[in-house]
Amino acid sequence: MVSRRAFLGLLGAGVGAMAAGPAQAAQTAQGKGKRPNIVLFMVDDMGWQDTSVPFYYEDGKAVRTRLNKRYATRTPNMERLAKQGMLFTDAYACAVCSPTRCSLMSGMNAARHRVTDWTLGVDQQSRFGAHGEGLYPPRWSANGLQPPGTQAKGVCQPPWRTGADGKFYQPALDAPGGNAYDLKMPFTNALTFPQLLQDAGYHTIHVGKAHWGSGSGQYNQQDSKAPTTPGADPRRFGFDVNIAGCEVGGPKNYRGDAHYGNKGYSQFATPGLDENGYYQDNVFLTDALTDMALRELERSHAAAPDRPFYLYMAHYAIHSPLDNGRAWDASRSDDPNVAKDARNPNPNDGLKWDPMERNYSTLIQGMDDSLGKLLDKLDALGETENTLFIFMADNGGLSISGRLKAANAPARAGKGSCYEGGTREPLIVRWPGKIRPGAVCHEPVIIEDFYPTILHAAGVPPPKALAVTPAGVHDDGPLRQVLDGETFLPVLLGRRATVRADGADRPLLWHYPNFWGEGIPGPEYHFYTTLRLGRWKLIYQHPDQSFELYDLRTDIGERRNLADQRPGLVDKLRKEMARLLRERGAQMPRIGSPDGKPVPFPDEVVLAR
Ligand code: CA
Repeated sequence: MVSRRAFLGLLGAGVGAMAAGPAQAAQTAQGKGKRPNIVLFMVDDMGWQDTSVPFYYEDGKAVRTRLNKRYATRTPNMERLAKQGMLFTDAYACAVCSPTRCSLMSGMNAARHRVTDWTLGVDQQSRFGAHGEGLYPPRWSANGLQPPGTQAKGVCQPPWRTGADGKFYQPALDAPGGNAYDLKMPFTNALTFPQLLQDAGYHTIHVGKAHWGSGSGQYNQQDSKAPTTPGADPRRFGFDVNIAGCEVGGPKNYRGDAHYGNKGYSQFATPGLDENGYYQDNVFLTDALTDMALRELERSHAAAPDRPFYLYMAHYAIHSPLDNGRAWDASRSDDPNVAKDARNPNPNDGLKWDPMERNYSTLIQGMDDSLGKLLDKLDALGETENTLFIFMADNGGLSISGRLKAANAPARAGKGSCYEGGTREPLIVRWPGKIRPGAVCHEPVIIEDFYPTILHAAGVPPPKALAVTPAGVHDDGPLRQVLDGETFLPVLLGRRATVRADGADRPLLWHYPNFWGEGIPGPEYHFYTTLRLGRWKLIYQHPDQSFELYDLRTDIGERRNLADQRPGLVDKLRKEMARLLRERGAQMPRIGSPDGKPVPFPDEVVLAR
């Protein structure tokens, strides 16, 4: 529960800068005759080193890492964007997909919105049994994010169906014959920023992976009676157009000739791409989504050239499957030898390709190619100057198998992890004439900041009333939406170096009371809370209630635990961590059984010293 005082305080902290300036921002936008277009190009599972663009800096200087060298010549469009915009070395998301995507849409920190793990089926949880650590996840929002007004019991439009003509059919939002749902697990209601942009007159386009609500995953079964929830459909969150988005968070198959997984039943099949000959021509999923996005931009521009648009280009790439060659398309390689022999060296560094790395690289190249086509289209439409373009990824690069173990070096570990490799992201923002080209920013920003920042840039005032999840959904009462994110528009515009006007460091929080990745040993992937404050990072490991302290300025690899050397600093940071957890109504894992005692807050742990 969040007290009213805490709520008001956080609202003030979160949107204070925005509240002071919406009139001015709107005026600026109107001064140009049109609000800015916004493109958010979101890549799935891409690590911050999976690019030729250097994101790692030492003493203010770019360091070209091993992977930057490997990818040289392979991400030219990211380089183009970085030259024209501002690069962030310390940008963050959450460590897995759904928490990031729900923070993006709601402006809430994951500790508050409680979609702390990845979601998919109705009432389905990825991992809910007893684990080696003897902990159980709390009753988190396993039914994901839902639009305002959603109740635990209701009727939703049917999911995607295959029609008599063999094509996908996405029913109208008010179509009869909806499916009844009666949810056992919690969810979280939120008023989203795309909804606010839509209300302000934006044409809002969703392309690719949504992954917000929960659903049947059975949109390709004609007679499915399985329930789905409103949040499974991006149109419920303020998107005019939805292309291929549903509750599913990963692709079954990237190949057009495999109908993107729609041959036979698969919960992970990607719907809505049976147009334009993609199946027959075996169009790669990344390219099909790009083609659909470009067509929609053209259509939108032709219909109403003065109407601003928000395009959420959310690629399924580069999420698994990476293996078995399913992600591999020889025609996509710029090195003919690679297709002939996976053991041949990478021409950029002379090192051999591991087959998994090769497939991974193919997905990266396809993503970069899509980025280039989108940038070219904005140029062709004459919209580049008036478009805020944001490049981001949703969690750290996969690093649990093969040579991908070093996927985020020099950061430690990867997707799912409490270490920097789990959450650090390759953020680039371009806005010609407003953001200085080639700028590099070391100020930490986090995914929930996007909500207030995008609204700020659009000149759309922050919401007056936010959503409240109805009582009874969560055991401990209603859950109120509060904007934890803060606008970083002043940083983008070069008006100041820090998000906070007073120059103070902001505490950033990650909370993962869940279990990720079956069979992955060690505590770094399960049950943790972490806090970053300035150069310092504190990790609270829930299983043994221990603390790790790292100095990110000198030890980005998080190898030298300073907790024993700096007990005073540990105490200061764990108090701050506990304060944020309480204010945000964070749920803690349970000890011994699903109804067991919760793991104590970090300031309640008695340390033997
Ligand atoms: Ca992801």
